[in-house]
Amino acid sequence: MDALDHQITQYSQTLEDLILPGTLIDCYEQHRRRLMRQASASFNDNELSWFLDMLNQLRGVADRQDDFDLLFDPMMYTENSYAWDAPPGLAIELPVLNSQLATHPGVTAEFQKIADEEVSQLRTLAETYPDDAICGLALLAAAALVDCDPGITDRRSAIRYLALNASARLEDYWATDDVLWKAAGPRVVKLPDLFLEQKESLRRGSLEAIHGPLTELDLTCYTDEEVKRYAFNPDKFLMSGKTRHMPVCGLCQERVAKWVSCAKDAEEKIMAQFGGKLPIA
Ligand SMILES: [Zn+2]
Repeated sequence: MDALDHQITQYSQTLEDLILPGTLIDCYEQHRRRLMRQASASFNDNELSWFLDMLNQLRGVADRQDDFDLLFDPMMYTENSYAWDAPPGLAIELPVLNSQLATHPGVTAEFQKIADEEVSQLRTLAETYPDDAICGLALLAAAALVDCDPGITDRRSAIRYLALNASARLEDYWATDDVLWKAAGPRVVKLPDLFLEQKESLRRGSLEAIHGPLTELDLTCYTDEEVKRYAFNPDKFLMSGKTRHMPVCGLCQERVAKWVSCAKDAEEKIMAQFGGKLPIA
């Protein structure tokens, strides 16, 4: 992980610690990120990027993903989910996973055919990895999908789990015709009470324990120059050492947001002028 990635991770972690979940989807996302952090802890960054590369080879060039949370993305199926507008809660209904659908009596021969081909391709791609690495990776996938009963017991079941749930071809199948998924009914994922936990942890001041007490610098508003620089260069913001002021200061959030929307307006105006395409410099 390079310095910028590290800063981004640290910053979003800080935000997660600060913000109370606003919707059911927020609860679900927070929970799944927490599970993923636990599941990936046993791997180093190199191992994780090799795994990602292997799964991207399975998916093919056009369908590469930059991270496991996008690769194993239950959100893919939840574009129109009620959970985006529902208040925080303790359970969420999500579409059935490919690995669950595969054992469903109504599954089609076409689905089975794609599934078998994906499994066989991944088996070859994974040849050089030991059993425990492949099982660990499958458990990381299960964490990302918040699947508490993935049935991963050995190399064979792990490869099957990974191939079915990472498959871009099954995604395409679903996008063309999702009748199978709908007919299987939703899966219900139970969630811990994240809203309460987060409130408790804020009250206990655990944020301070993790990140140290706020300093004078953290409470000092950005200069106009800084506001502009951060609005246009998120990387400069993340590297500035001054990120902790943003979540605590509504005023500076607004100042930055104003510049961001200003830039967006300008971009839209240019796009309109050039018929929906940005001119190439
Ligand atoms: Zn401020």
